Amino acid sequence: MKIDTTKPQTLVLPILSLLGDSVTFPNSELQLNLSKEHHAVIEAIKKVDNYVLIAFYTGSDPISYEVNTFYEIGLIGRLIKCSKIQLHSDDSSQSIEDDGYRVTIETLTRAEIYETAIRDSIYMAKTMTLPYQLNTDKLYIGMVNQMNASLIKKTRKASISVFPEPEKVKWLITPRLESNCFPEIFVFADKVASYMRMSIEQKFEYLSLSGIDERLSYLSKKIDEIGLTEKSAITEKDVGNLELIKQLGMPEKVEQKVIKEINHLAELPSDSNEHSKLRTYIKWLTDIPWKNETEDRDDLDFASETLDSEHYGLEKVKTRILEHIAVKIMCKKNPSTIICLSGPPGVGKTTLAKSIATALGRNFVKFSLGGVRDEADIRGFQRTYVSSAPGRIIQGMKQAKTINPVFLLDEIDKLSTHHHRGNPAAALLEVLDPAQNKHFRDHYLEEEYDLSNVMFIATANVLEDIPEPLRDRMEVITVSSYTEVEKFEIAKKHLIKKQIEEHGLNEEQIIFEDEAIKAMIQYYTLEAGVRELNRTISTICRKSVVTFLDSQEKQIITKEQLVPLLGKHKFEHTIANRESRVGVATGLAYTSFGGDILMIEVSYFKGSGELILTGKLGDVMKESAKIALSYVRNRAKDFGVDEKIFKNNDIHIHVPDGATPKDGPSAGTTLITAIVSALTNRKIRPDVGMTGELTLQGLIKEVGGIKEKAISAHRSGLTTIIIPKENEKDIDDIPQTVQENLTIMTVSEFDEVLEIAFE
Ligand code: ADP
Repeated sequence: MKIDTTKPQTLVLPILSLLGDSVTFPNSELQLNLSKEHHAVIEAIKKVDNYVLIAFYTGSDPISYEVNTFYEIGLIGRLIKCSKIQLHSDDSSQSIEDDGYRVTIETLTRAEIYETAIRDSIYMAKTMTLPYQLNTDKLYIGMVNQMNASLIKKTRKASISVFPEPEKVKWLITPRLESNCFPEIFVFADKVASYMRMSIEQKFEYLSLSGIDERLSYLSKKIDEIGLTEKSAITEKDVGNLELIKQLGMPEKVEQKVIKEINHLAELPSDSNEHSKLRTYIKWLTDIPWKNETEDRDDLDFASETLDSEHYGLEKVKTRILEHIAVKIMCKKNPSTIICLSGPPGVGKTTLAKSIATALGRNFVKFSLGGVRDEADIRGFQRTYVSSAPGRIIQGMKQAKTINPVFLLDEIDKLSTHHHRGNPAAALLEVLDPAQNKHFRDHYLEEEYDLSNVMFIATANVLEDIPEPLRDRMEVITVSSYTEVEKFEIAKKHLIKKQIEEHGLNEEQIIFEDEAIKAMIQYYTLEAGVRELNRTISTICRKSVVTFLDSQEKQIITKEQLVPLLGKHKFEHTIANRESRVGVATGLAYTSFGGDILMIEVSYFKGSGELILTGKLGDVMKESAKIALSYVRNRAKDFGVDEKIFKNNDIHIHVPDGATPKDGPSAGTTLITAIVSALTNRKIRPDVGMTGELTLQGLIKEVGGIKEKAISAHRSGLTTIIIPKENEKDIDDIPQTVQENLTIMTVSEFDEVLEIAFE
């Protein structure tokens, strides 16, 4: 096998899983010590010419990984060295037995993980390589060269807070790189990224970028950002300037402490470790805001205008937010309720929170809780620890520069409940509680810090995932998926205008035809929000800048131009155009990305009566699959299933693509429909989607997420959906345009489902 890293290629490779925080990039070498449990994986890697898919695990345990828990993007690597070693060789009296491996892997290119499955007891992935894209257009290359030169300049100047090991970065700058050669620029960008101080999220953000221009500009921006926070803090030589320190408005006690520590600092040898630690500590105390504050703009009309000018629709949400602001104006302090904006990605939660900050004239900071596992992430590490630092709340306050920012706690539902040390949710509760947060204690700072002026707002994708005490503390405002019509309006009234402006263009120079916008929504995105749509518009603008500079002609974006600009359609076939098949039923699922359709495939073949489950199934779904099979067995006669089938065959249930469904019982009806279809050889209508929990008596029970499920069914081209009768009350919530285009059938018993679903 040979992998060409310049072209997309579909591959099936063994998975080597690493923890998310060890994410690396292409063009580097990874050295790892692996335990002997990896024997089978290493053998499998050797069988495929030493190629491997490195997947980054989103959980905390690299060995007991489960499907669904990898980041979408991994790396194709090649094993270049592998030797057996003893990992724990302290006891020399024990018989020498090799118990691990030291491996060196060269990382070649990025890859998207489509599907994972167990084969011969190891995890395999079906993936497609994602080579970096390089447009060969002259103007584009010119732009990239400029960006490269600018990044070289910035890396030379960047301080130790950007690159903790500056000497490594120095070696990257070679004459070939300076004369803009490829692939040197690719390698340079990846290496700069790997040496730069970045959070895990930022690393994944970088990893997801395909264009070299996007990557160079991302790195450039990050260097600037880190530089800026540095500049605005008290400069090195100012640590020790008592006059300046007095102006910070610290509480008396803290000020005394800082002065004491400054005196202490003078006594320490300036090249000692203690000196640098103490200096960092003093800098933290003097960098965070103690009295600086913005004055609130208490103007409800202005607030309303701000919300309207940045967001289409969302009337209920806006009204609720205005009420919140009104309460703030009346009480002259932050309302004691904390708002939690809940909904799928890309529906505007973050920008709504930003608008609140704009409306009030406050600074805005955002901090993601995704993957936070330790209490110390919130509350800081004590100064005695090697890697001591304040927690993210205090870090956020430093960024905010004022004591009264709007502070967005993003993805509060991703707060890990399998915490390692301490309880991060409890720490967060204290942060949000007005009775306690006046005296917030960060372990690193050691001094109390007053958070009572901060307006906290949270966001979440899936409410049920928020630890309960936290959920109780907040007032949830739901922001739901958009219909295609809404997306069209959002693109036309907001996204396109902004992107045109951001790319230095104006409406005299580029226009998007309505048909093109509709086609972008239909053929290039499949999402609850408008994030991908926004990215698509940005891509078009970027490419149009280049053609515009070249031709100086107005760019008219038509439907026909999308393929040359964006490549072939990503979502070509709506479900309705597909053929009906035996054993394939369409379920309606609720995922953290909003609603989605979920195909369930069932087949059977000679065997000994086993049930084989593969693909994206959680524990509850596995359980449902077993119940479904028992149910069909019990009622085999009614369904016209030959009972011998169960003895002489294995039955295989597979849940292939789509986003990861929330693990729950709502796939019950879909599972049984697919099983009955497979065993009776009857075709299922491809335009029918269904959802419903099924009891052993064949009754269909209520499920959640009907609105989201209906919107996604409509988006995917289904014409009919089957939902439990008990969910009739939810039909009113479904947007009118969706209701008009979708036949909604309610059922209370399973037999009714078959009548509708079978051809
Ligand atoms: P979320 O935080 O929900 O994931 P974002 O706030 O990041 O989503 O929104 C993604 C993009 O979509 C932003 O550029 C935002 O301005 C835009 N957007 C989302 N909803 C709307 C809307 N109703 N009107 C205008 N723009 C919107």
